[in-house]
Amino acid sequence: MTYAHYIAGEWVTDDAVSININPSNIDDIVGEFSRGDAARVDEAVAAANAAQPDWAAASPQLRHDVLEKASNLITSRKDELGRLLSREEGKTLAEGIGETMRAAQVFKFFAGEAIRNVGDAVASIRPGIDVTVEREAVGTIGLITPWNFPIAIPAWKLAPALAYGNAVVMKPAELTPGCAWELAKILHEAGCPTGVFNLVMGPGSTVGARIVEHPGIDAISFTGSVATGNTIAVQCASTGKRVQMEMGGKNPLVVVDDADLDVAVATAINGAFFSTGQRCTASSRLIVTAGIHDAFLEKLTSAAANLIVGDALDAATQIGPVVDQKQLDQNLRYLKLASNEGCDVRGGELANGPGFFMKPAIFAGATNQMTVSREEIFGPMASVIKVADYDEALAVANDTEFGLSAGICTTSLRYASDFRKKAQAGMVMVNLPTAGVDYHVPFGGRKGSSYGPREQGSYAREFYTIVKTSYIAP
Ligand code: ADP
Repeated sequence: MTYAHYIAGEWVTDDAVSININPSNIDDIVGEFSRGDAARVDEAVAAANAAQPDWAAASPQLRHDVLEKASNLITSRKDELGRLLSREEGKTLAEGIGETMRAAQVFKFFAGEAIRNVGDAVASIRPGIDVTVEREAVGTIGLITPWNFPIAIPAWKLAPALAYGNAVVMKPAELTPGCAWELAKILHEAGCPTGVFNLVMGPGSTVGARIVEHPGIDAISFTGSVATGNTIAVQCASTGKRVQMEMGGKNPLVVVDDADLDVAVATAINGAFFSTGQRCTASSRLIVTAGIHDAFLEKLTSAAANLIVGDALDAATQIGPVVDQKQLDQNLRYLKLASNEGCDVRGGELANGPGFFMKPAIFAGATNQMTVSREEIFGPMASVIKVADYDEALAVANDTEFGLSAGICTTSLRYASDFRKKAQAGMVMVNLPTAGVDYHVPFGGRKGSSYGPREQGSYAREFYTIVKTSYIAP
């Protein structure tokens, strides 16, 4: 069976396919997914454009009901979908099921937001005139998603897009189309009207590029690499599309002398290595003050060495495989670079098995100027950077072109509150990993990490709606 695109309420198959492989076991083929082209995008945009006005004009109750039903369907299939997620992406089954439940929560949240889309009534400065400020749907939105959160990221873009009356053309990453395809099926079952949601699968260079350039697309929400995101942002500016970009991170976790050592090590292990380090919020720079540095490094090294790397579907596994050979090759290049730059590399060995298994790696003795401390690696690797004191730690934490998430481990209220104020990041974590966020509050970064309005929670309304000011004289 070939998995089909979902266009205008129909399942449409292409002869060309992308093969979805389980990174834990490369002999296990998850499925063959239709590989679309520009013409498929054109069909999907035409369907979306035709369906969008009625969807926006429909009662918010209808949009609520579709999203709530989608949420319930995801919840009822959480084990199966979580398993599919882990099989196609490689994060552990617990993480896969957790991410699936996150998608369900996001749909439930935005079911409510569809009904809470309030505006303002304002007294005009001119007597006898009423002024209202209301939010309307933007139109047809192109969603371009990455492989590392195959169900949560599609969900947190799709749910607000639909809640506020937009139509959608979505293109998932080629490595992980399975969860996006299941979401299409779920929206179909949930009664999403024909053409409101469309799924076109295939390469970024063709399908993605056509979505970005298509005149029938009003806005693009993208999550992925910095290089691709920056290219898309420029293209959108030249065609007048609104954009929301979530790109990379090089997130600092500061560990101060007064930190609880066990909390700091557990926080670093989770932030740096869970989900195989394949998170834009991963703690990839561990910035440690001199008094606790040696004890922290020693404990971190042994905790990392004890992590169980293996098949994502094995209940004992703590770190699943790297997503594919290309990413593994890139990781190995950074590992070599870390040695060449003078780090004491601990771990990072390839682990045996039929998948892309790699042990977590610690780059001890790193400086913040090294390439391995400046570029996003997207693997289970972290620099440990020794600094004299809190002030230097803060300066090093902010010395990066990124600004997504920043964490600190400390028992001092003074350091915690100073760091909250001065960290140049969209999200700050105190005694918590830089990764791991809630769904009802804004997600996004500063500097090179993000561009455009925030995602998630009620702040998502900023991007997925457009304001209209009306003046009414009786
Ligand atoms: P990664 O390296 O993590 O896969 P990418 O930025 O390459 O990140 O991919 C993120 C998403 O953007 C994927 O769905 C990919 O297919 C898509 N994409 C890649 N190149 C382009 C492009 N030129 N235009 C539009 N989408 C693209």
